[in-house]
Amino acid sequence: PIPTINGNIQFDHVVFEYEKGRAALKGINLQVQAGQSVALVGHTGSGKSTIINLVSRFYDITQGRITIDGVDIRDVTLQSLRSQIGIVLQDTFIFSGTIRDNIRFGRLDATDEEVEAAAKAVDAHDFITQMPGGYETEVEERGSALSMGQRQLLSFARALLANPRILILDEATASIDTETELKIQEALKVLLQGRSSFIVAHRLSTIRHADHIVVLDHGEIKEEGNHDQL
Ligand code: ATP
Ligand code: MG
Repeated sequence: PIPTINGNIQFDHVVFEYEKGRAALKGINLQVQAGQSVALVGHTGSGKSTIINLVSRFYDITQGRITIDGVDIRDVTLQSLRSQIGIVLQDTFIFSGTIRDNIRFGRLDATDEEVEAAAKAVDAHDFITQMPGGYETEVEERGSALSMGQRQLLSFARALLANPRILILDEATASIDTETELKIQEALKVLLQGRSSFIVAHRLSTIRHADHIVVLDHGEIKEEGNHDQL
């Protein structure tokens, strides 16, 4: 799909309560400029996942407003909002089917060439073609035939193919070997290129590459800046 938005995301004094009287976010002001990556860091329960969930409007905020290119996200349909947002979650979603179908999920009209180009761009093509059935290899939901790193690369290929203007990434915490780690970092660079992204970052290398880092603490922004400033 052709991107139709710039992807400038803004939080204006966002307050959010899952339960009445207990604010998970206490007046968040932040901005993701079009094409920039913002890493969210902070202790468990500080509000990182809450922030990224609100961008897709999984919940409506209690006070304040969230805009994309100046438009309040409550003023557009959920479908048009979510069609602009790609989400890569910690627990990568693989379903029973072929590798090709797994990459094509979300872009059912994609040609075989487009699927393979996306896999190549994130450096997943080689491991896929080394599997017994190549792109037609059947994988299980649990994806047991795939390593954590391979699952992550597949999810990146899927997101790249869908080509959303905004990317939300809840980075996996699982430890992976150094070689795979490097591969994922390279793939991530390709994936982030030209998109606005919100990353719940656990890896130092990811944090270092972000354009802006926001440190959360108990639902508030404690510090922000780039890696050199913090
Ligand atoms: P983690 O690093 O553990 O993933 P986080 O920074 O993503 O933490 P959030 O999940 O955003 O933290 O949680 C922020 C606050 O909101 C916490 O106090 C949490 O207990 C609360 N919370 C999160 N999800 C819900 C929910 N579905 N219902 C009620 N409270 C919730
Ligand atoms: Mg979380």
